[in-house]
Amino acid sequence: MTAPEPHAPPSTRRAARLQRARALERAFGAPRDTADPRRSAFARAAIDRPATPVRVGAAARPAAPVSRNDAKTAKLMNPSDPQPRHARRRSPLRSGVVAGLTVVASLVLGSTASVTAAVTGDQVVAAPVASAAPAMIVGRVVPKIAPTPEAPTALPLPAPAQAIPTPLVAAAPVVVEPCALHAFADALAVRDDTAAVAAIGGAEDFRRAVAGGLAPCVDLADPARLWTVINKTRPLTPLDYRPSALAMPQGVRSVEGGSLRADAAAALSAMVAAAAAVGVGEIALESGFRSHTTQETSYGNQVSAQGVELADLSSARPGFSEHQSGLAADVVACADGCGTLDDLAASAQGQWITAHSWEFGWITRYEDGSTPITGYSPEPWHLRYIGPELAKAYHDGGWHTLEQFLGLPPAPGYLG
Ligand SMILES: [Zn+2]
Repeated sequence: MTAPEPHAPPSTRRAARLQRARALERAFGAPRDTADPRRSAFARAAIDRPATPVRVGAAARPAAPVSRNDAKTAKLMNPSDPQPRHARRRSPLRSGVVAGLTVVASLVLGSTASVTAAVTGDQVVAAPVASAAPAMIVGRVVPKIAPTPEAPTALPLPAPAQAIPTPLVAAAPVVVEPCALHAFADALAVRDDTAAVAAIGGAEDFRRAVAGGLAPCVDLADPARLWTVINKTRPLTPLDYRPSALAMPQGVRSVEGGSLRADAAAALSAMVAAAAAVGVGEIALESGFRSHTTQETSYGNQVSAQGVELADLSSARPGFSEHQSGLAADVVACADGCGTLDDLAASAQGQWITAHSWEFGWITRYEDGSTPITGYSPEPWHLRYIGPELAKAYHDGGWHTLEQFLGLPPAPGYLG
């Protein structure tokens, strides 16, 4: 540390020398041997400067008598000199070197974005690795604000090799709302649910975005969507909704002559054919689409037989049934004749369905143990079509209810 600058003029020649020396020290940095006031300021500068490459230009100056004016000039050249030397503003040359090193390190990392950033002065915001954050964190390049030499931290130094694969120029991750992605928005607009899931990066990314509240453009209440959630707190909208495209599943015995939405019908046909092909046996459709009117009758019959409390565990009230969406199928196992719904679980077909229905886009909607969330007793026969992509994510993630899968609260009972 140097002593504070005395305000009084020097009274002796020795004092004047000391004052000039201190001025030089402030101008060129404190020498290592400040404890030796006998060495002249210039001698100290000549010895010390070669050890500090940034100041090579200054050290190469020709020797000249040190005067008060010299010291003042030197000080004016470095008005911010109270800073430590390493914190002084970076020269354009040195910045270039750093940028070059960044490019080299970027090439090592194979990051084109990093190279671009190093050359253009942009910052790359990299997606985190193995982060618990939602998957819709997408790396993007954002312009660097005020890329001046006064902001050297905007251009980080290369990471040491042992730090790889830590992102070289990573800053805070940027969460991009999927609804801002054109491909996603376009797919939603044309009601191509499969394309929408693909556009967002796949079913698991879709799920995490929705469950994480990052995709407000995804309407879980739209009964025409593959991802619609219909339960005791989420009735169909409108209550008398009817799907536009119903079809009879080809090659499937229909016990009640039921239909399904066209895509679900095709998926059921594929599943039934696959089960037959591997020798599991015949699977038939007991009940598919049910209109609001049909559900009124069905639920009314259950109430008459069991009372409201028990009826609500096994039958949805009109306007609250997945069957009304055309995306639900109650299936049974058949041999010569077909068994009941209750017979399915113990049958070879029932066990095969539990293991493989997801491959065809179906999930078991009301599993054993999920009544506190779904509000229904277990129904191994009640399958819900959500499409192969979402069904795979549901299966792979070990989910047991659609509510949990998409981040919705439990719906054990009706609100009203
Ligand atoms: Zn059902």
